[in-house]
Parts: sequence; structure tokens; C-alpha cells
Amino acid sequence: MLMLGSTLAVAAILAIVTSLLFRELGTANEAAVRSANNVVQLIDADVQRNAELYDTSLQGLITAWRRPDVMTISPELRQLVLFDRATAAPFKGDVVLLDETGRIVADSTSLTPRLDNFSDRPGFQKHRDSGSLALVVDGPFLSRWGFKDLCISFSRRLPSDNGQFVGIASASMRLSYFDQLFRTLDIGPTSTVNLLSADGVMLARQPDDNNRTFIGQNFSMRPNFKRILREVNGSFAAVSELDGAQRLYTFSRVGDLPLIVVVAQSRDDVYAVWKRNALLVAGATGLLCIGILWLSWLLGRQLRLRQNAERELAALASTDGLTGLANRRRLDQVLKQEWARGMRSGRPLALLMIDVDHFKAFNDRHGHHGGDVALRSVAQTLAASIRRPGDLAARYGGEEFMVVLPETDKAGACVIADKLRLAIEALPAFADDTAPITVSIGVTTHLPVSHDVPELLFQAADRALYRAKKNGRNRVEFEPYVAPSTELQA
Ligand code: GH3
Ligand code: MG
Ligand code: MG
Repeated sequence: MLMLGSTLAVAAILAIVTSLLFRELGTANEAAVRSANNVVQLIDADVQRNAELYDTSLQGLITAWRRPDVMTISPELRQLVLFDRATAAPFKGDVVLLDETGRIVADSTSLTPRLDNFSDRPGFQKHRDSGSLALVVDGPFLSRWGFKDLCISFSRRLPSDNGQFVGIASASMRLSYFDQLFRTLDIGPTSTVNLLSADGVMLARQPDDNNRTFIGQNFSMRPNFKRILREVNGSFAAVSELDGAQRLYTFSRVGDLPLIVVVAQSRDDVYAVWKRNALLVAGATGLLCIGILWLSWLLGRQLRLRQNAERELAALASTDGLTGLANRRRLDQVLKQEWARGMRSGRPLALLMIDVDHFKAFNDRHGHHGGDVALRSVAQTLAASIRRPGDLAARYGGEEFMVVLPETDKAGACVIADKLRLAIEALPAFADDTAPITVSIGVTTHLPVSHDVPELLFQAADRALYRAKKNGRNRVEFEPYVAPSTELQA
């Protein structure tokens, strides 16, 4: 019970701790999503503000270009009218106006437009082929002029009265802008911030992989990116297709631009604190549980030892030291029990009083030690000859023994008594004796009723034994129980 109780307690502790740890895991996940969302929102806001700036510049350029008088003013003035100061900010590239062939017709970087043709750019071709006036984000591509680093471009189709394609206004943005922006964010050592175009092209990534192998790569066929495109905003956990690690993706579309920000947090970053705490709590709980079980086991062992000692003491207190049979105290106890049982069951109880014949003389011949040896073998014979579970053989005192036979009538008791007498007579003669040891047995039986007294059963057995001695010894005699009232009448 003790071990069962402590095992249940330990199981309960483990269940509670496990459920708490799982809840904490959920909380860690939520916190990670929240912080990733903050990062995404921050980038979203910054990129959107910049994109709006670009778009404003483009629209200003288009509006100015549509004025018929703009081509009549001086090139310096025209430059000021067409290109505003917003485009001069760091990380901003050049702003150009291209005609329907892709040739530069107005250039923010020089008064005389550079001699170049951008008709090879997919953005240009998209405007030419689609006819839509929406903002197009193109790239990344290597700038052919200036810093010659990776850029993306924002462009709008020049409107014309008859819908014909007359060219585009395009502004480029250097990707180092994103690197700068992403570098200011603390997202953990193994997590990444990524900016992708809606077509699935990786535009920027932090931390930067050394040789920019991912920049410019197309991810549109990867299942994770497909899911990001489908869900637009949100968060999910999945295995990264790049390095096979478990990652938590949090993502958002940048305004209504064809740009997507994805924060990919590694499991290690998300669960680092939780893992440390969980290890600590699990260790402490494990030690506590082992302690509880160990203490319970110790206590259980002590209780068992004590129980065994008590049982041994109880056995000693009811056993006769010389013969190992039940002693007189036990005899009294059993007789009382069987007396009560006899009253309940209505079956008679038999008592046999056994006395060794001429034992004084035996003692004189073989000494007290010899007498003890003989008494032990008589006791063994008695114990071996009664086999029913309820039967009891006890040493009454000296060389006198008693046998209690529950649920046994006169005939049965006499048969058993004679069997015992014969068994003892059959023992080999002691030392140089010519005759074996013999016993005389007084038998009595009685069906106990409420006012009867067990002592009278002893008296009846004693009377029977006396008669057996008188009638020549080594024999069995029967005397009936005499009830007190009958005795008085007698
Ligand atoms: P009877 O046939 O009439 O019973 O003759 P008896 O000699 O057996 O007479 P009694 O019952 O009076 O004698 C009992 C003797 O048993 C007395 C004592 O010397 C001996 N005796 C009693 N207890 C022990 C014992 O524990 N060990 C030994 N060795 N002898 C005992
Ligand atoms: Mg005697
Ligand atoms: Mg005797």
C-alpha cells in the first residue's frame, strides 16, 4: 500500500510537471510568434514607407513628363522638375525614364541620359506586354552603373491617351538597404529574416549567407513558399527546405506591394529558454521522485522487519519451548475459539487428554535429558498424526498433552485417540528398554451451548484419563461432559 501510494504520488507529480512543461512550451511558441510578428510589422512599415516614397517619385516624374512644356525648358531646370530630392537618399539607386524601346530618355544621375537600353529587364517587358498601370517590382539584378551591386526596381508604365506603350518610369533600390535594415533587428543567432518578391525570388536575407547563394534564387516551387503565398499573413512550423531544420515561419505581405517578409526562427532559438528551464525542472522533479520512492522503500522495509519480528514474538509466545507444540496459553485460546464455533455450527467438540505412562520411572532410568528426548518424540508423533486444519496438539504441562478436535463426535474422537495411542506405542523402544513408551488417553466430547463452561470439558477428559490409568494404562477411555446442573443433581 505504501509503495502503491508513493508510486501514485510520483505519477501525479510527473503528470502535473509534464503538463506544466507542455503549457510552457506553448507559451514559448506564442512568444516567439509575437516577437517575429513585431519584426515583420517593423520591416513591413519601413519597406512600405520607402516603397511609397519611390512610387511618389515615379508618379511625380510621370506627371512632370506629361506636361507639354517640360521639354522646352533648360536641361538643368528639367532635371529639377523631373527628379525630386527623395531619390538622393542613401541606398537609393537611379531613377530613369525609358521610351518604348527601353532607351533612357531622362536620367536622375546625369543631365544627358546615359547611353543604355533596359529593354532586357523583365520589368520593362512586363509593362510592355501587360498594359497594366500598376507598380511593378523587378529584380534582383546587378546594376550596370554606379555602385554595381544588387538592386531591385520599382516601375510604372507611362500612360498614353490611346493606350499604346510609350515607355516606363523606373527607380532602382539597392539591396544593401535591406541588409542595413535587417542588421538592426535582433532575432537570434540561428534565425533569418528574408525578403522575397511575390514571384518567389529571394531579394534579401539576414544573416547574410557568405556568398549570397540564396539571393536571386527562385523559391516559388517550394512547398513552404507556396503556403506563404496562399496564406498571405500568418505563422506555421515546418522543416526548412534549405537546411532541413525545423523552423517557425512568420510572414506578411508588405502592404499591397509584391514583396513578402518572412522571419524564419530556428527551434533552438524559440525553445532555448524553455529547454534550459525544462531541464532544470525535470532534473529537480526526477530527484524528488527518486527521493520519495527511496524513502517509501526504506519505510516499507522497516515496517516489514517490524512485522516479522512481531510475528516471531507472537509465535514464540504461543509455542512450547521443549516440544515445539502449542503451549497452554495457545491451547486455552484455541479451545475458547472452537467452543464458540461449536456453538454456532452445532457440531460437537472433542478433547483428548494424553498422559505418558510410568514416566517417573522412565526419567529415573534414563535421566531428565532422556525424558526430554522421549517427550519430544511423543510430541512429534502427536503433531504428525493429526492432520485436519482445525485440529490442535498442545503440551498441557509435564508429560501431559491435549488434543482439540473440532466438529468431532464420540466415535470419531475415540478412533483418533486410539490411532495416536498406537502410533506412540509403535515408536522404537528407548535405549536398552525392552518395552516402548505408551500413553493413556482420556476422551470427551460435547456440543457446547451458551451456559456451558469449557473447564468442565477438561474435568471430563481428566476423569476419562484417570479411568484409563486405573484400567491398566496404554488405553483410551471416554467420559461424557457433565453439565453443571446435572452435576448438582448427581
Ligand atoms: P503414570 O503412569 O501414573 O502417569 O505414572 P508417572 O510416573 O508418569 O506419574 P506422574 O504423571 O505423576 O509423573 C510425572 C513425571 O514426569 C514427574 C516428572 O519426573 C516427569 N516430568 C514432568 N515434566 C517433565 C519434563 O519436562 N521433563 C522430564 N524429563 N520429565 C518430566
Ligand atoms: Mg502426569
Ligand atoms: Mg504420567
